[in-house]
Amino acid sequence: MNKLKIKSLKGMHDYFYNDIYILNYIEKCFKKIILLYSFKEIRFPILENNLLFKNCSNNYFDIFCKEMYSFIDKNNIILSLRPEGTIGCLRAYIQNKLYLNNFLNKFWYIGPMFRYENPQKGRFRQFYQIGLESYGSLNFIVDIELLLIIKKFFKKLNIYNFLILEINTIGSINDRKKYINFIKKKYGKYIKKKLNIKNNINYFKLMDENILNIFNDFPKLNKFVNKNSLINFENICDKLNFLNIKYKINYNLIRGINYYNDFVFEWKIKSKYNKINTVCAGGRYNYLSKYISNLSIPAVGCSIGLERLYIFMKEINKEKKYINKNIDIYILASYNNKSRLLGLLIVEEILNSNLNKNNIFNDHKYYNNLNSIIKKILKYNIRILIIIDKKEIFGNFITIKDLFFNKQKKVNKLHVVNTINNFLKF
Ligand code: ATP
Ligand code: MG
Repeated sequence: MNKLKIKSLKGMHDYFYNDIYILNYIEKCFKKIILLYSFKEIRFPILENNLLFKNCSNNYFDIFCKEMYSFIDKNNIILSLRPEGTIGCLRAYIQNKLYLNNFLNKFWYIGPMFRYENPQKGRFRQFYQIGLESYGSLNFIVDIELLLIIKKFFKKLNIYNFLILEINTIGSINDRKKYINFIKKKYGKYIKKKLNIKNNINYFKLMDENILNIFNDFPKLNKFVNKNSLINFENICDKLNFLNIKYKINYNLIRGINYYNDFVFEWKIKSKYNKINTVCAGGRYNYLSKYISNLSIPAVGCSIGLERLYIFMKEINKEKKYINKNIDIYILASYNNKSRLLGLLIVEEILNSNLNKNNIFNDHKYYNNLNSIIKKILKYNIRILIIIDKKEIFGNFITIKDLFFNKQKKVNKLHVVNTINNFLKF
């Protein structure tokens, strides 16, 4: 047995066959919906200058840095693989002056993100995110629109009923500072003792990791959130009720990266179904643009973990549900060069016809035992099988089988398309 000398990296996976089908299915459903809302696709690099990420986070060293893949390039610049899309997307938006049209600008993207984490189920080192970002408005209706779109997407995937939307308002950075100062003053010593922390406590980190929540009697952040933020939050709740988007207020929901302000949300798989349960997370980040430019661009966005959706969908549905139900035409024509050429010509003929031409697979491999390969093909979800083997070549005909209805016809090469057409009428 040949042993592979180098394997893929920890937390980075290969996907193929049915996995690809499901991943593409998710992507296809998303694209169908997002087009209806006129979001524009945006693509930006996977690698960025490390400073871009560093400048965007006050607590960079605790949250971003640890999870980031960074390295020095040949020009001595520190580069980082993007751990998320929001920052790169906004950088691209500003650098390309896409704000100049003065409209509300809405973008979506999909692509790999990289985080140096401890891999486990639903947590990888390379994973895909679908992202949505709306730039240019402070109004909460933009936030609502985002939630409405995501709801539609989850409904289309048939998973909406398994999910719960959790929301909160985290106020301004100042509010959070006030809160932390309060906790520090009043409970600092107590926390140190309880958690056995020797050095300085990073309260932001404790908040983000939900560690503060174990202290049930502590006041919650919402008691420190400014009035405007609370009113905005009430408005959002009101509209969510109106639109029948179910949610749960979670006062402990903070979101890791501190560029967020006010409204934040996470869509979670209801706990009885899954452990790593957040499939979509996002919120307002009206001040992020200030970290990377001198512009003030109000924004709201979110990202969806593609693999987490895919794992969950596989768990709750039988894989078969996602197998391509379109017409598949499989051609076995590798008996000799004459049959192979005929196979190629038939593919072209089908492509030039009015037939619904999904997935024509022309198998060029020579098989000693055609019957055993046909048995294998029967297991797949293939509708039409075209055979040009020894018998066919000598008898000057082509065999066409309808595998769904177990019918077969031997026809002249001129009648291939017609015959398939007749089969497909049923
Ligand atoms: P978590 O709390 O699970 O670590 P996060 O807050 O770090 O998530 P975000 O940065 O908000 O996640 O990313 C948005 C979404 O991307 C998550 O809700 C999740 O679905 C997905 N995601 C994040 N990290 C990973 C990962 N390491 N592997 C797979 N998917 C991930
Ligand atoms: Mg994380």
